[in-house]
Amino acid sequence: MTAWDPDLLAAPPLLDGEDRLPPEHKLFALRTLPLGEIRAIGFDMDHTLARYRAPEIDELAFKKAVRLLARDRGYSPWLLEIGYDPAFAVRGLLLDGLRGNVLKLNRERQVVRACHGTRILPRPELDAVYGRRRLSTSAKGFRNLDTLFEIPEGYLYARMVDGFDQGILQAGNYLQIFHDVRWAIDTAHRNGEMKGEILEHRDFFIPRDPQLALALDRLKREGKKLFLLTNSEWSFTAGVLGHLLDGQDEARPRWTDYFDLIVVSSRKPDFFLDTPPPAAIEGQPRCFTGGHAAWLEAQLGAEGEQILYVGDHIYGDVLRSKKNASWRTLLLVPELEHEIQLLEVKNHDMRDMLRLETIRRRTLRRASVLMDQWKRNRVRRHVLGPRLSAEATVALDHEAAHLASSAEALQRRAEIHSLELDSLTKSVEAAFNPTWGPMFRDRDEPTRFADQLQQFACAYTGRVANLYMYDPHLTVYAPVPTLPHERLG
Ligand code: IMP
Ligand code: MG
Repeated sequence: MTAWDPDLLAAPPLLDGEDRLPPEHKLFALRTLPLGEIRAIGFDMDHTLARYRAPEIDELAFKKAVRLLARDRGYSPWLLEIGYDPAFAVRGLLLDGLRGNVLKLNRERQVVRACHGTRILPRPELDAVYGRRRLSTSAKGFRNLDTLFEIPEGYLYARMVDGFDQGILQAGNYLQIFHDVRWAIDTAHRNGEMKGEILEHRDFFIPRDPQLALALDRLKREGKKLFLLTNSEWSFTAGVLGHLLDGQDEARPRWTDYFDLIVVSSRKPDFFLDTPPPAAIEGQPRCFTGGHAAWLEAQLGAEGEQILYVGDHIYGDVLRSKKNASWRTLLLVPELEHEIQLLEVKNHDMRDMLRLETIRRRTLRRASVLMDQWKRNRVRRHVLGPRLSAEATVALDHEAAHLASSAEALQRRAEIHSLELDSLTKSVEAAFNPTWGPMFRDRDEPTRFADQLQQFACAYTGRVANLYMYDPHLTVYAPVPTLPHERLG
């Protein structure tokens, strides 16, 4: 052995294989997230700490809502017979209350897909109604399906529009149906029936995840302050979290032992906008109802970017906490696991799509250069005409014929690529959802949902338990953002 052994300095081999986190267990950072700088981590409850069994929970809300509509709003009992279709609505869609439509929007808030009721609107019909207009999605008469609780609302609205168009349901207009659907879903959540049923069958509706308690425990042991911030009321919260966390860890026998501060009935998004005083819950130390972001920060001794909030509601949990309180945000996207599985299954087709599109664009570019050469040839022939020799004229015409036929052949080839691409794209997108395609994109464009995610979330993941695999003192790095000119090669 020599005195200086270069092997001693060699980097250890990169970890691979079983050491690599599967994508469905990953945290995807959009902004670099220095976990070491985070002093407090807050959690939303519904569809965040508690992952409800879907689509069964959606079907429950749907059934409660149709019963209310038939009983209290005089709609035909036909409503009671329609079954729930879990495949129809997805998160990120927009309901158009005036026109009886359900819409998918791109990043520019333009409509890229639409249904009238449950009928898919063909492109010309869609263009006639919306064109390329940017919609103001917060305007009256529109409703965003931003949370998983709103998925059944989308299908119920669409089916009622169908019933109204077929003369089965009586209503003044689409807008009345739109408001009645909102009322019914809202009432189903508020009147306690739905929550009663969820708690009664909690083993079925709220599956336990053994890694959830581990993840919370690790964060707490490593010195993070944990808090719960939920719009659910105390009794439901205690029922759900007791079921998920009580008895999971001998050192923390009760669910409340995981949190330094518990806020229920928090009225998000107003929690980040108004400042009403909190009220302590009797007999429950560190537990409050109401309150506001500034009060919570004072309680925790942490503020702004020292706080990470984890929630599933892109508006109420993520956009408002980031915009109004400067908190860091982690969006829970339970649909992500399924989307990732499909990306893996369709990976081959998607590579083919990219390859075909690249060839198509290059073919069109070559065709357009040939067409330009043909035009120059014809101008030359016209300008020089009488001065050209007979042979030169023949040669020029021969060249023109060759240029034109080559350009046409290339254009035909590009058209064939377009058709192939079209059918491949349709089949790939339909695998995600037959009506709406993937949640995060439509063809080459990000959806409005993806755009909001990119603007307001620091990171996103499929389930809270995924936090267990991340060292609370390390940084989760986001890819370095690049502009097109920086992507060489
Ligand atoms: P979080 O996600 O933990 O903040 O809680 C959401 C709470 O809002 C749950 O208690 C839901 O039952 C409730 N909720 C969801 N949608 C509606 C609605 O449309 N009206 C009233 N409450 C709702
Ligand atoms: Mg929630």
